[in-house]
Formats: sequence, C-alpha cells, structure tokens
Amino acid sequence: MRDWEANIRKVTPYVPGEQPKRTDVIKLNTNENPYPPSPKVAEALRQISAEPMRKYPDPEARMLVEAIAREEGVCPEQIFVGVGSDDVLAMIFLTFFNSQKPILFPDITYSFYDVWADMLRIPYEQQPLDKDFEIVARDYDKENGGVIFPNPNAPTGALLGLETIDDILSHNQDVIVVVDEAYIDFGGSTCTGLLDHYENLIVVKTFSKSRSMAGMRIGYAIAGEKLIRYLSDVKYSFNSYTMNQTAIALGTEAALDHAYFEETRQKIIATRENAKKELKKLGFSFPDSQANFLFVTHKRVPAAELFAALKEQGIYVRYFNKPRIDNYLRITIGTDEEMGRLFEFLREYL
Ligand code: PMP
Repeated sequence: MRDWEANIRKVTPYVPGEQPKRTDVIKLNTNENPYPPSPKVAEALRQISAEPMRKYPDPEARMLVEAIAREEGVCPEQIFVGVGSDDVLAMIFLTFFNSQKPILFPDITYSFYDVWADMLRIPYEQQPLDKDFEIVARDYDKENGGVIFPNPNAPTGALLGLETIDDILSHNQDVIVVVDEAYIDFGGSTCTGLLDHYENLIVVKTFSKSRSMAGMRIGYAIAGEKLIRYLSDVKYSFNSYTMNQTAIALGTEAALDHAYFEETRQKIIATRENAKKELKKLGFSFPDSQANFLFVTHKRVPAAELFAALKEQGIYVRYFNKPRIDNYLRITIGTDEEMGRLFEFLREYL
C-alpha cells in the first residue's frame, strides 16, 4: 500500500436496488410508487422555462418548505428539506450523532444507517428484532448517543404504535431520537403529534413513496425550530444549494395536491391488503406490513431460487443475502395488474 492510501476515507457503500435497463419488466424491487405524480406536477412541469436556470435556486427552498409546513400543520421553521430523505438523514447523522456512546438502531432495518455511521465514524449498536421481526422497545432503554428507526420498519413493513414510540422517547430524552417515516402514509399514524412533548424528536419523511416522486429527490425533516436551525447550520456549511429549482417548484405542487395523495395511497393500501390474501394462499408468510411492500418467505421454496426465477420472468423484487433475512423477498406493491401477473407466475411456478 502506498503512503497516501493510508489517509483515504475508505467506505463500503450502500447498494441501492437495481434499476434495470430493460423497460418491459415488472419493477417491484425499489419501493417506488406505480402511479405517476399528481397531474398538477405534470402541469407545472409544462410551465417551466430554462431561462431562470442561469440563477442559483432559493437556498431555503421557501416555497416548498411552506407547502410542506401547511400540509403537516407546523410552522415553516420546523421543516428542513433535502435531496431525498437520504440527504436529510445523512445531515442528521452528521449534525446530531457526535457522542462517544453508540447510537442504537435495529439489526434488520434500512441498510443505509450503518453505512452513514461507518462513514462518519459514529459508534453504533444494532438491537435485534424479535422472532416476529418486531422492534423491542426495552432494547432502547440503555445509555446511547442517539436512536434511529424507520416506522414502519424496512424491509419488514412492521409498524410500531404511537404508544410504543412515546415509550421509546420517554426513555431517551437526553439524546436525539429520529423516526424515519418514509412509509408512514401506507397505513401508520405519523408521530409528529409527539413533537410538542419531545424537543429531541426528529421525524423524517419523503416524496419518493406516497407522492410518487423518487426521481425528483425530495425529502424533509420535521422537528422543533431549534433542531432545524442546528441542522441548517451544518447544511449551509456543506452545500447551500442542494434543492434545484425544478424540484422546489414540482415538489410544491405535489405537496399541495392532498386529494391526489389520498387517492393514490388508498389504492396502494387496497392492493397490498389483497396481495396479503393472495400470497397467503400461495404458501407465503410475512410480517403484517403497513408499508408499500411485503417481506415474504415461502414454506417450501427458498427465496434465492424464487428471486432468480422471477427475474428470469422479468419480475424484479428485492433479495437481501444477509443473516436472518436470506430466505425472504421484499416485494413492492405495484398496480393491481402488475400484482396479478406476479400471482399468476407464482401460481404456476410453485
Ligand atoms: N428511509 C427508508 C426506510 C427507506 O427505505 C428509504 C428508501 N430507500 C429512504 C429512507 C430514502 O428515500 P429517499 O432518499 O428516496 O427519500
């Protein structure tokens, strides 16, 4: 190894789900929304001209922040926006997880958390989910440098009730607690109501799932004004202009179209509940997901085999070759038609 190599920050990066080149596939592997964004987004896109692009965007993304604040029923000073919730979460790790004590998160969870912790040299301890893949609240009672978990959890889909979140917060009032609500709109109750009781709580949400805008990269945090100020200070010390003009303009339209948001999320919930019935009939079992995906295992056929057979057929799902979950597939909820083709193939194959 050359001398200069010793001083390189070496990291093992997060591996996102595959984005296949082929377009004729049924893509149920990255928890995208199968429906397009609000028609108001398409309309606003038609109005966009290139001329303003010579200028820098509004570093505060004020228009978008105000639209989100209105939708969430909080003041704009309680919102921080970023380039997808991944950007927001990375900023949160950088800003708030600076203790010598380990931060805590589940052993089976969003696989970016340990990547950020490793990259930023944040010590962490993973708390095992129980045998039903549920978070055990008591595991988060110990001394720590911060707590983060998704609700519903990913890739299990299992949802914690608000009482359990309150319980975890009440035992962790001296550290920052982050609840990653990427999938909350598909059946859970947001914990933003707890912000009035816990000044150390940060709730993170995204436009990628329930608002069908993964490609635009819009995410946000909701917290008390003080935490948002600390987060913004770090962001402005890093890159002032993360949100581009187009994302700000189109995100604002999406945030304000509440009716369309309701309609699409209800469609996904209905398709998911039907998928639970169909997959059970086919011999699968799974945690009772409240997200836009199901985490399934088959009583007879190994997940790795099914994954390959599905892919061969042009049906993409996600497989994690990791301890405890290597016999599971994560299937994103698509349209009724896409799910129908999945069931049809499985019926024949199994
Ligand atoms: N949190 C969780 C739990 C996720 O599964 C994802 C999606 N990969 C994200 C955050 C990030 O989503 P985005 O950056 O698209 O907002």
